[in-house]
Amino acid sequence: MPRTTQKTSAPTRGGMTAAEPAEIQRLVEDLDGMLSRLRLGAIREQLDGLLEEAARRQLNLREALAWICAAEVASKEQRRLSMAMTIAHFPFVRTLEGFEFEAQPSIDPGKIRDLGTCRWVANGDNVVLLGPPGVGKTHLEVALGREAVARGYTAQFTTAMELIGALVKAQQQGTLEMRLAQYAKPKLLIIDELGYLPLEPEAGHLFFQLISRRYEQGSVLISSNRPVDEWDEVFGDQVVAAAILDRLLHHSHVVTIRGDSYRLREKRRSGLFRPQAGGSSSAGIGGVAPPIPAEEV
Ligand code: ADP
Ligand code: MG
Repeated sequence: MPRTTQKTSAPTRGGMTAAEPAEIQRLVEDLDGMLSRLRLGAIREQLDGLLEEAARRQLNLREALAWICAAEVASKEQRRLSMAMTIAHFPFVRTLEGFEFEAQPSIDPGKIRDLGTCRWVANGDNVVLLGPPGVGKTHLEVALGREAVARGYTAQFTTAMELIGALVKAQQQGTLEMRLAQYAKPKLLIIDELGYLPLEPEAGHLFFQLISRRYEQGSVLISSNRPVDEWDEVFGDQVVAAAILDRLLHHSHVVTIRGDSYRLREKRRSGLFRPQAGGSSSAGIGGVAPPIPAEEV
């Protein structure tokens, strides 16, 4: 459908008014075609409204052009954002604004807000989140991942089990190289829930290959319910664990969360569970938490 013309009346030129509606029609169609060809879909869709608004605001030509271009830029950015969020495969939507810092006093809000600026992603640093179940590790991973995507970085969320399963399968099928390249690609790779199940030494070695592939190239954001000094048990091999930690912690920010499960907080409040003993604190790089009790019922 050709676009209807603006409410401008055609100028009269010595009795030649009969040809003018057709001329305007052609101009509208030409413009429509050019906007399509230039892939300026938002301008094409909203042109009438944009022109009317520009006229209403009495913008000069340059201002009007900028106003119209801004609509296209906003629309393209919105599309990029929603595409990148889809590709990232976040399991749910969580934000830093939605994180209650009062509920988790072992976390330094300043440190998390600083991580929210994503300078660490720009630098290719890693972030390691340690803590028992339910304290907000996945929440923070998703929130920080979304911040990174919003700032134009590519991100991918996966669980340790999913990642290792894919690598093991790829190795069996002779496509390991391709898989490693795929996981090395996003600027930020988020690996959730390392340590829930111990890994076979072979799986640990595949994990090492991935970490060394990404080393100093792209960031890894990883969470675990096991303190790093127990990772040799997680990987089933002390040497592999040490090699992984060496690369992961080299340029890294470690956030150790101690405290109660947020999930069980309400239940505890209602008297269903007794509160856990012990306070909360945070550790810096290389900080090692005490053994984390098994939790979640
Ligand atoms: P973990 O990954 O450490 O097991 P989650 O991030 O899955 O914990 O948190 C469990 C649930 O509680 C999620 O829905 C999460 O959004 C919520 N949650 C955890 N901590 C907080 C918090 N401090 N503020 C708001 N919601 C939280
Ligand atoms: Mg989790």
